[in-house]
Amino acid sequence: MLVPVMKKPLTKSNTILIKGGVVLTINPSEDIFPAGYVLIEDDTIKSIGTITEAPPDGTVDKVIDARDGLIMPGLINTHTHAAMACLRGLADDLPLETWLNDYIFPVEAHYVNPEFVYQGTRLAGIEMIRSGTTCFADGYFFEAEAARAVSQLGLRAILGQGILDFPTPDVPNPDFNLKNGKNYLERFPASPLIAPTLFCHSAYACKPETLQEARKVCNDHGIPLLIHLAETEAEIMKMMSRYGVSPVKHLLTLGVLDGETIAAHCLWISPEELFVLKAKKVRVAHCPESNMKLASGVAPVPDFLKFGIPVGLGTDGCASNNNLDLLSEMDTAAKIHKLARKDPSLMDAKTVVKMATIGGAEVLGLYDKIGSLELRKKADIIILDWKQPHLTPVYNYYSHLVYSASGHDVRTVMVDGTVIMHNQQILTVNEKEVISEVEKIGEEIKKGRLNNLR
Ligand SMILES: [Zn+2]
Repeated sequence: MLVPVMKKPLTKSNTILIKGGVVLTINPSEDIFPAGYVLIEDDTIKSIGTITEAPPDGTVDKVIDARDGLIMPGLINTHTHAAMACLRGLADDLPLETWLNDYIFPVEAHYVNPEFVYQGTRLAGIEMIRSGTTCFADGYFFEAEAARAVSQLGLRAILGQGILDFPTPDVPNPDFNLKNGKNYLERFPASPLIAPTLFCHSAYACKPETLQEARKVCNDHGIPLLIHLAETEAEIMKMMSRYGVSPVKHLLTLGVLDGETIAAHCLWISPEELFVLKAKKVRVAHCPESNMKLASGVAPVPDFLKFGIPVGLGTDGCASNNNLDLLSEMDTAAKIHKLARKDPSLMDAKTVVKMATIGGAEVLGLYDKIGSLELRKKADIIILDWKQPHLTPVYNYYSHLVYSASGHDVRTVMVDGTVIMHNQQILTVNEKEVISEVEKIGEEIKKGRLNNLR
């Protein structure tokens, strides 16, 4: 257990010194300081190195003693639907089409409202903080409520207002889906921690003109378009029968890839489409656990990496995972490709740790700000309790992070220079209250299901 040495209460102040633990920087030279320190001034990393070079305690506002800890950049979840935490375990063990059309969409139509999104995002945020995620990309309905929750939680996020061409809980008439999206962008100009954007559900759930208009809006605002892409074989068949082309070719022809695009899944990608993704600078959110659970397939991630296509890790929503623990997602990401290609050398531990940190930063367009512990980057930092039986002995830090650690090992979390969890105590919201609010939502849904609403 990490014992804090605090000079003042842990609230934002000018300088914080984290010292004593192993510092895993994930910087370009992959520096590791076995006994190191990180000095933070306001929201920024001011200096970093071995503990002998650390400034004296008396010269800083606060000291966090990280002895027996591993200090590393916060994890980055490149694809989720946070509020779906309210639907965790509602319907499991089903194919995506059945799961979505017979369970998730009908329940969402009936129960998703601003309160659902607000409370669900707060719950998901607590789970993310507890498991070391400091930044995430989200797409859902009533996204302004997600923004309200995220600003309370103190997390960093890209929040995409969902756009579909059928009635949704927040836009009953889809003719107004883009108007609603534009209003959302106007109401929430980007702040230091929250970047609003648009999330077009998919090439099959949005009409061509909707996709093109959303692309234009995103380009006009200089923001990335979020979308699900080539997730299942059924999606490919649907697109082939409707438009005579694959979803990638459909988006390419429409010009929807002409701008920043963060595409989730990307499983059913042909060899020639790899060139399209590369040429159009598409960035991929890889969600292996969701893909496995829905038996969607295996994304050609080793090929993406060979092509230099940026890849980050995502959990997808809680209803198809069923947790938001990126450390366990790392374990799956490392193993699924070894199995699928019968090659144990694929997706080695270091590659996967980078994917969950600096790779995620690149996918979200935040490479210059976060994803590694380097001078002048934002102080998004986590500390894991490293003195534990399942992490002993240590031959390789990356190996333990991927194959042995889990989200439960995270002790302290800092975002933008502010400590938001310390010694596993969430400091920004009342965790018990949030759990109780989401329990109430769950009870309502259970009652509805008893009345045959699925
Ligand atoms: Zn998704």
